[in-house]
Amino acid sequence: MRFGALEAGGTKMVCAVGNENGEILDRMTIPTETPAVTMPKLLAYFQDKEIRTLGIGCFGPVDLNPASDTYGYITTTAKLAWKHYDICGYFRKHLKVPIGFDTDVNGSMLGEATWGCAKGLDTAVYITIGTGVGIGVLAGGKLLHGMQHPEGGHILLPKRKDDTYAGKCPYHGTCLEGLAAGPAIEERWGEKAANLAERPEVWDLEAYYLAYAITNYILLLSPQKIILGGGVMHQEQLMPLVRHKVKEMLGGYMETKELADMDSYLVLPSLDDNQGILGALKLGMDAGGQA
Ligand code: ADP
Ligand code: ZN
Repeated sequence: MRFGALEAGGTKMVCAVGNENGEILDRMTIPTETPAVTMPKLLAYFQDKEIRTLGIGCFGPVDLNPASDTYGYITTTAKLAWKHYDICGYFRKHLKVPIGFDTDVNGSMLGEATWGCAKGLDTAVYITIGTGVGIGVLAGGKLLHGMQHPEGGHILLPKRKDDTYAGKCPYHGTCLEGLAAGPAIEERWGEKAANLAERPEVWDLEAYYLAYAITNYILLLSPQKIILGGGVMHQEQLMPLVRHKVKEMLGGYMETKELADMDSYLVLPSLDDNQGILGALKLGMDAGGQA
């Protein structure tokens, strides 16, 4: 059986066809331009692929409330051409297959929970630290939505005492994203994050903010595993620092077998950068295509 998957990102769109075993059979990547330019190309890709469903993991914020008039829309995004755009409606109209829709990070969380390192877990968190910071949450075996979806990338953090940076988030200044996403690193230190590998003070501060947020996620959600993805995590020295600081910040308060093994508790994604597209595939399968 063939299912369609779309990982809709602010810079690129990844389309794929896969099967129920999580095998990707075909894939295409195109840059994200305006809806008028990009959407017909995506449609043309899926149209002749005999897909049974389409799953979309989308950059946000998105409207995930099925009772809302704007369900399936991208809402208040900073990518202005896509603001209040009905991305699901377009495919629903032209493809006539069931559509599964969620955030890109919930998609990645689902990919890892279905075919990756969070398989079989009840509660887990996926964090991406890239152009922005986003989190996807699996709680009680399901993706957590509530009103819309968690916005854990924007939780408010106190600044470390020696940090004079004003923060980059247009809404909150010094939220997690405003302090620790790739563009914040670049603005604070005056150099692209990828070129700062040799500056230990950069990664010590980065690990501090990530650990601060992660400690709060642990205390609030009691996840059995936390996965850290996104471009910034390509810095190999970062993960050990984060693990160390999380342990320190928890202060020995929670004693669980998971926390006793930090190397398996805080991990990088396990699916070769396919967690997003595989999660989108599963979103589609869950939308009604499984016979
Ligand atoms: P996006 O968030 O746009 O989907 P990425 O997850 O690749 O894409 O994140 C892009 C961000 O990650 C950029 O801000 C960039 O500075 C940062 N980044 C990319 N590669 C690296 C690297 N090797 N080291 C540190 N930061 C990186
Ligand atoms: Zn914010």
